[in-house]
Amino acid sequence: MRKIIIAIDGYSSSGKSSFAKNIAKKYGYIFIDTGAMYRAVTYYAMQNGLVDSHGSVYEDKLIENLPNIKITFRYDPVTEASSIFLNGVKIDEEIRSVDVSDKVAVVSSIPQVRERLVALQREMGRDKGIVMDGRDIGTVVFPDADLKIFMTADPEIRAMRRYRELSQAGKKVSLEEITQNILKRDNADITRTVGPLKKAEDALLLDNSRMSLEQQMLWVSEKIDKLIK
Ligand code: C5P
Repeated sequence: MRKIIIAIDGYSSSGKSSFAKNIAKKYGYIFIDTGAMYRAVTYYAMQNGLVDSHGSVYEDKLIENLPNIKITFRYDPVTEASSIFLNGVKIDEEIRSVDVSDKVAVVSSIPQVRERLVALQREMGRDKGIVMDGRDIGTVVFPDADLKIFMTADPEIRAMRRYRELSQAGKKVSLEEITQNILKRDNADITRTVGPLKKAEDALLLDNSRMSLEQQMLWVSEKIDKLIK
């Protein structure tokens, strides 16, 4: 069977990662959450005093430190989940904090940060058989991807999903705070000059506001099956 590259882009909390993870599981593909990579760099900046109390990032220092940031993913066959490591330390939980979510848009708008992460992402997709989700995968990282999907859902639905996710993880957050953060990030993602969130012309639009994961899987499997046979 032919191995392909599947690029999934879209708005914050539109369900990209759950969808991508499911596709990877079904087809035995590698799943890469590129949002986690931008979050990891943001977390590094916060941990190393490169973000001040107002949330401004010391860009020059962060750029200088980029060679010291090693991001890796490791798949655990027992839990069937992959974890992200920053310089060898597992940081799955830390990168999901509201604090990181608040600062990641600034960090991800730094061209040198994007350049480094895009190079790493391309390297990860060298052997194909990969599902990658993010904002610029179909436009910048893999403009020749075999299948491109652009995901969206109503903002209230996206905020509610994120709220449930964080509440279930025991985090105390308000729906209002989440809604604001999502809208702010959407805006920053759309308006940045390098690698903005944009639907690739040849991407298929998937609005999953009223779709279950099963329905989304049926929709995508039909397309993937045609491409790999
Ligand atoms: O996907 P997630 O919401 O975890 O991504 C966190 C942030 O990382 C986004 O709001 C965006 O600013 C940034 N990002 C990006 N390019 C990507 C993936 C994520 O700029 N390919």
